[in-house]
Amino acid sequence: MIFDYDLFVIGGGSGGTRAARISAQEYGARVGIAEESRMGGTCVIRGCVPKKLMIYGSNVPAEIEEARGYGWQDAQVGDFNWPEFRDKLALELNRLEAAYTNGMVDAGIDVYKKRAHLIDQHTVELSDGARFTARYILIAVGGRPAMPGIKGEKLGLTSDQVFFLKRLPKKILLVGGGYIASEFATIFKGFGSETVMVYRGDQILRDFDREICSHVTKQFSDIGVDLRLCVTPTIIEKDGEGIRVTFSDGNIEAFDDVVFATGRKPYTSGLGLEEIGVKLGGNGQIIVDEWSQTSVSTIYAVGDVVDQVNLTPVAIRAGHNFADTIFGGVRKPCNFSQVASAVYLRPHELATIGLTEEVAAEQGQIDVYVSSFRPMRSLFSGSEARSVVKLLVDVKTDLVLGCHIFGPEAGEMMQMAAVAIGMKATKADFDRAIAIHPTVAEELVTMRKPTRRVGIPAVAIEMDINALY
Ligand code: FAD
Repeated sequence: MIFDYDLFVIGGGSGGTRAARISAQEYGARVGIAEESRMGGTCVIRGCVPKKLMIYGSNVPAEIEEARGYGWQDAQVGDFNWPEFRDKLALELNRLEAAYTNGMVDAGIDVYKKRAHLIDQHTVELSDGARFTARYILIAVGGRPAMPGIKGEKLGLTSDQVFFLKRLPKKILLVGGGYIASEFATIFKGFGSETVMVYRGDQILRDFDREICSHVTKQFSDIGVDLRLCVTPTIIEKDGEGIRVTFSDGNIEAFDDVVFATGRKPYTSGLGLEEIGVKLGGNGQIIVDEWSQTSVSTIYAVGDVVDQVNLTPVAIRAGHNFADTIFGGVRKPCNFSQVASAVYLRPHELATIGLTEEVAAEQGQIDVYVSSFRPMRSLFSGSEARSVVKLLVDVKTDLVLGCHIFGPEAGEMMQMAAVAIGMKATKADFDRAIAIHPTVAEELVTMRKPTRRVGIPAVAIEMDINALY
């Protein structure tokens, strides 16, 4: 059978664009790609990129305050002009979107700025009715914000709208306890909004190491984020120009904006997947094997739509591996059980790889090395903020099973620790490295004595080191 394309990709985000470009540019495949919204996807348009720029922007007052601590006594923050920042951000996103589109076109890929759905195992249809056949179809449609189902929730926003607000809210409510809610709390507080964050559970960032999370909670209190645990909004109503929220504890309060960061769901509805036999899981995610292949042999899926590790570098790696495997003749499986990640908070970020203390202690016996200290830079300017560096080491094998850092630019430090841990570094390897002084990162290689030993004696922990990325 002759197909219009070797590969048709649905979704022009992180995973889809990488798979399309490598397939076309490196391996000469004939590729078409459909994008219903803006090329670049969540990360570039509504996620990592605009969020990190907002983190930088919102941290300026703290930097000015630090400057005063270094003797720049007249340093003043001045006024923040949200519309100016927002419009500049929009221009930057336009630039990136154009760069993504041009990257596709330059690689010889046909770009269709349309929604696509499946007709059968080799055929897609665009929203204008055009149909194309392809030997393989890759679904990379990502996810969408999930709403909790609260009365009046439509009056609230999601992360998709937050970057384009008409005006900066004087008082904002963030609903959720994950990294997105936490980062937006940091951002709006930094910009000067009165910031309330509510979460239904008793601990935010629940997949992260508990000890480190307690420092995040303290940091919120130090910077003035009003974090309320075990509380949910129950009714949301219009209140003049603002929004009135009734909470589960009976409290009623007015806000300028309410933002729901209550999870994300794979965006599989209306794609025609089940109709042609593609199996979905309970959250609507596409079920794939380690080769990203679905239950229909010609259809593959990568990125947030498979709902495994919902991060940009994972979507990119899966898209790349797909192209190498299918068109490059080099079989590369996807196994992302251990991935380093960061939560961009201020003044201190949280970054992590590997097991948490809680999980490791359930599996075997570990030595826990913890160093908590006030970094030189902020200490000098008068800040009380503490950094924490934590290593979890298997007592039997000396392997470093987990590394958690709460500190300035922790994400930057963690990237290199991830290389070492991916190479099966032992605590002795960490100790062998000579410290770079004076840095925060030197704590990683100078912790001599364990703070405590926990877990099940004499059991070595099985960690799939080959799965580390
Ligand atoms: P997406 O990037 O979501 O791309 C999917 C694309 O498919 C979209 O452009 C969509 O419009 C398009 N599409 C959907 N359906 C169709 C259809 N039927 N036809 C045509 N096109 C369609 N990750 C990190 O690693 N670091 C971070 O700091 C980070 N911060 C984030 C902050 C926020 C606020 C959010 C929401 C996410 C963040 N993420 C971060 C996660 C990251 O953005 C995603 O993991 C990543 O974008 C997933 O890539 P993807 O290719 O699977 O999907």
